[in-house]
Amino acid sequence: MSRTERVRSGAPLSVPHEWVSPAGCELCGRFHAGVCLNPVTASPAGLLTVSDALTPLGEVVDAAAEHLAVRHSYLDPEADEWPDWVLAELIVLWRAGPCEDCPVWNWKELAHHFMGWWQCEYERALPVWACRCGAVFKVCAAWDRAWDLYRPTADGLLGDAAGAVRLDSKGRVKRSDACPDCNRSFGGTVAEQADPQGCLF
Ligand SMILES: [Zn+2]
Ligand SMILES: [Zn+2]
Ligand SMILES: [Zn+2]
Ligand SMILES: [Zn+2]
Repeated sequence: MSRTERVRSGAPLSVPHEWVSPAGCELCGRFHAGVCLNPVTASPAGLLTVSDALTPLGEVVDAAAEHLAVRHSYLDPEADEWPDWVLAELIVLWRAGPCEDCPVWNWKELAHHFMGWWQCEYERALPVWACRCGAVFKVCAAWDRAWDLYRPTADGLLGDAAGAVRLDSKGRVKRSDACPDCNRSFGGTVAEQADPQGCLF
């Protein structure tokens, strides 16, 4: 495990602007910046019969969405209707079939499969940051003023945990792990990148 450095005082850390968690697009669910190129703006076809009853596909998708809301808080259980893009994505995933992690294939496993799909989308979208030594990490905002760094896997997901940076309420480094490759503190490297002349660490 890497060395943890405690810093007693210092200037507020100027956190790299890319250390911001990506926000999911409300129109397509993907994590992209800027304008949505593939908005899902209508409830997908195939869920209801002409007399507005659920089709067999509609029953699977509706039960999966309900499970995501009620059991896993992925959707707002109080919402009047599920987002169109979620319904559309559930249909796409249902038709594509189970992955090797799915024990069986039914509405409940579709919900869990959706969560796995969403987690991969999220991890791929997380910002990448390079240490001075060239080591590359994915950065995940744990909460306000707290970041966790991970090695990326070959397919751009989160790999092994590499350390964390925590700031105090004044924005100064309270705790920083060190890069496992070069042993420089992450917080120190960030401060140096922001202000190469006046490094305080
Ligand atoms: Zn979008
Ligand atoms: Zn579940
Ligand atoms: Zn699966
Ligand atoms: Zn390094």
